[in-house]
Amino acid sequence: MTLSKIAKLIKDGQPEQQVEVAGWVRTKRESKQAFAFLELNDGSSMTGLQVIVDDSVPGFADSIKAITTGASVRVVGVLKESPGKGQSIELHAAELTVLGTADAQTYPLQKKRHSFEFLREIAHLRPRTNTFGAIARVRNALCAAIHNFFQSRGFLYIHTPVITTSDCEGAGTMFQVTTLDLAKLAQVKTEIDYGQDFFGKQASLTVSGQLEAETFASSVGDCYTFGPTFRAENSNTTRHLAEFWMVEPEMPFYELNDNMDLAESFIRTILADVLAACPEDMEFFNLRIEKTILETLRNIIDNDFIRLPYTEAVEILLASGQEFEYPVSWGIDLQSEHERFLTEQHFKQPVILYDYPRSIKPFYMRCNEDGKTVRAMDVLVPRVGEIIGGSQREERLDVLTDRMAECGLEPEDYWWYLDLRRYGSVPHSGFGLGLERTLLLLTGMANIRDVIPFPRTPKNAEF
Ligand code: ATP
Ligand code: MN
Repeated sequence: MTLSKIAKLIKDGQPEQQVEVAGWVRTKRESKQAFAFLELNDGSSMTGLQVIVDDSVPGFADSIKAITTGASVRVVGVLKESPGKGQSIELHAAELTVLGTADAQTYPLQKKRHSFEFLREIAHLRPRTNTFGAIARVRNALCAAIHNFFQSRGFLYIHTPVITTSDCEGAGTMFQVTTLDLAKLAQVKTEIDYGQDFFGKQASLTVSGQLEAETFASSVGDCYTFGPTFRAENSNTTRHLAEFWMVEPEMPFYELNDNMDLAESFIRTILADVLAACPEDMEFFNLRIEKTILETLRNIIDNDFIRLPYTEAVEILLASGQEFEYPVSWGIDLQSEHERFLTEQHFKQPVILYDYPRSIKPFYMRCNEDGKTVRAMDVLVPRVGEIIGGSQREERLDVLTDRMAECGLEPEDYWWYLDLRRYGSVPHSGFGLGLERTLLLLTGMANIRDVIPFPRTPKNAEF
């Protein structure tokens, strides 16, 4: 017999069906009449399977004694219709094997509510809780939806490198990768010779796969990267991680409007797909984590996003009469408080801001004719703020090299990127969606550390 997933049994299990399941005991209730109830969870669904064990099961007394919350067991038995409310089916055990005990004195996940801060300290055990099990399933469904969205539209999934020697926009916020002996270097006070380093020059972990994705957009067509991204920014916020996952589509022949259309339908489609794939988990988030989450998501799925030039957004912020911590003026990089005001209070809907001042945006964004703005777009959503950053890319060689000079970048360092403009250059666009920011939007969780299995933040890389 092979193991059945509890999610499947709860959905399609038939009375009198012989099954075998395995998982972790959430609760045990013993009755005086020589039987016990176990609530068994194998992670396949929020709802566990009720298992009834009586003294006809070999080794009954010893097994039940050994089982406490957190113990792992394997059960062979027969499904029966359940008389109890809240479940339709239960399992009557014929055989019960205790695989691993969990000492009740030390097992940290006892049947009570634990704070998210505490659970972060036991990130290796937190997926056994309802909340973190649900997050793991929703994260998985979201990734599947992302791939589906692009695969069904003929986009190629491209693997861009994690280690890079072109420092893109990330100067100062990159993690260096080196095999040089730092302890030895600290003793000899000479200039560091990166020629001696592993790659023969300075290397880092990538902050974005965009530049490499552009090479594929300029050859095989619509494509996307989806992988881990690293930023050494020392921002201890609830929306920043040092290691996060980013989805970056890149499309030839797309102008800014096409890019916005794709971003909007992308967000709406993946949210709808996750709602359809994880109804039980999403109900849980709505009930236990954030009471407005389903309403917010349906509103996003059903309505068109607002599209607004940066300049008009600044006018709205200035006219709002709102006290902001960071004062607003044309040219500033909008802070999360400004973004959230626009999307949560003013429009109460996702907003795509575009045509940002060129002085606050990277060199590769296409310059507008006004000489002041670039074809950037950020998608802002309620409770999270920026979830997507993107742009039409500068495809004109002369404009791009001028912009690089303006940004203090050396064209030689980007020779291959510039070649894309030398040979068969085409208008093209793309954007980056933060996976964890999307999960904040989906689950209503307040801290980004709680929507990635093992968060990396300043001073924290345990597990
Ligand atoms: P922010 O201004 O919010 O710090 P950014 O403008 O630096 O973000 P981009 O370079 O535009 O971010 O990256 C694209 C997307 O990646 C963002 O819209 C966001 O969803 C996500 N993202 C960026 N930085 C982080 C981070 N440190 N942790 C988690 N997600 C991030
Ligand atoms: Mn951005």
